[in-house]
Amino acid sequence: MLVVPELPEEIRALKERARAFVETEVYPLEQQIARAGTIDPGEIDELRRRSAEARFAMLNMPYEAGGRDLSMLGQVALEEEAGRCTNGLGFVVANRGPRELYEMATAEQVERFLAPVLRGEYHGAWAITEPGAGSDVSDIQTTAVRDGDDWLLTGEKWFVTSQGEPGYYVVLALAEGEQALFFVEPDAPGLRIKFTPGFLHDPYLDHHPEILFEGCRVPERNRIPSGGNEGAKEWFTIERLFIAARCCGAAARSLELASDYAKERVQFGQPIVEFQGVSFQLADCLTELLAARLMTYHAAHAFDVEENRKIVHGKVAMAKLYASEMAGRVVDRSLQVFGGRGYRTDNPVARLYREVRVDRIWEGTSEIQRLVIARGLVKRGVDPYAA
Ligand SMILES: Cc1cc2nc3c(=O)[nH]c(=O)nc-3n(C[C@H](O)[C@H](O)[C@H](O)COP(=O)(O)OP(=O)(O)OC[C@H]3O[C@@H](n4cnc5c(N)ncnc54)[C@H](O)[C@@H]3O)c2cc1C
Repeated sequence: MLVVPELPEEIRALKERARAFVETEVYPLEQQIARAGTIDPGEIDELRRRSAEARFAMLNMPYEAGGRDLSMLGQVALEEEAGRCTNGLGFVVANRGPRELYEMATAEQVERFLAPVLRGEYHGAWAITEPGAGSDVSDIQTTAVRDGDDWLLTGEKWFVTSQGEPGYYVVLALAEGEQALFFVEPDAPGLRIKFTPGFLHDPYLDHHPEILFEGCRVPERNRIPSGGNEGAKEWFTIERLFIAARCCGAAARSLELASDYAKERVQFGQPIVEFQGVSFQLADCLTELLAARLMTYHAAHAFDVEENRKIVHGKVAMAKLYASEMAGRVVDRSLQVFGGRGYRTDNPVARLYREVRVDRIWEGTSEIQRLVIARGLVKRGVDPYAA
């Protein structure tokens, strides 16, 4: 039966190092950002350098690609610590490599597009969502039409998450009747950034622009051979698991801050934690946090050992759904415990409150996770998912 194994010693050590790094390197930078209201790119480069020095980057990649082939259990442990950070700075700490692309791409594509990511020279971005196709990815309208040895891409992609200018976009398009993935360089003729909206979590490490492809010319060698739907699905599964893990980290930090505050804040002649109206809220937070952590680590372990990927997909959906909704409740209650001080942006809880909201939306909304879970239940029953 699949349960949650004890974390091996090296993963516990990695987690401890990551916690120390987050506390000493990231928290002071967050305060600087809270004061300035913007992120200084120079400070981010410096944080990236320190993070690489601390050897947190690319651990998920296979050895031959310079990684450590870290299990999903280990990656989730690292990601959980990264989730404590605000302003998206956790992505600098848990700086994973594009493993799913590495496994799908041709050797030449690996060399051309992915090797620079592994060397830390740039990041990639995924362009799946469109104005008319969000939850329903099957309805994308972007087309790729053959033109000699090239493809011409036409369509519009939204919410394309990228840290500065990416080295490449992975674009999902309809090519000769089936969905296919293409590497597209940012300077490809016919590609244009249309608009970069602001978002609730700003100031944030990533931007999420809208991108236009107007007969954008892409050579045949940029088409990812085994891409399309399956490639995008594997990416979703992994990213959902990481969202669950980050939500656990965010909730843990928020709860620690709220419970410390509740012990020291005195009203009506006693610490507010002595009011059950406060302490019961904290008790619910802790209980739900533990449930979410167990579910997330369970799903990560399933990712590593379960052969049936459909079961893994369902378990990951449950972890993402529960952990993201848990984080929303925990940061909301934590903020309430702080009273007015919880509403100040120099309080990490205020930032976490604003930032975990998207975790119920991106990589598939809560409703879509419920859809995935319900479909699995109807097809395969309770046992494979609840075991
Ligand atoms: C900050 C941010 C970053 C993002 N980054 C990326 C990225 O890098 N790349 C990328 O491709 N996309 C990205 N996305 C897009 C994200 O994945 C989509 O926003 C998400 O999948 C939902 O799609 P939608 O916004 O079009 O909402 P819609 O699909 O229009 O949904 C609207 C509402 O209807 C509900 N709904 C839809 N269908 C059903 C159903 N069958 N049953 C019940 N309810 C349903 C939804 O749950 C939601 O509440 C990002 C989004 C955000 C906000």
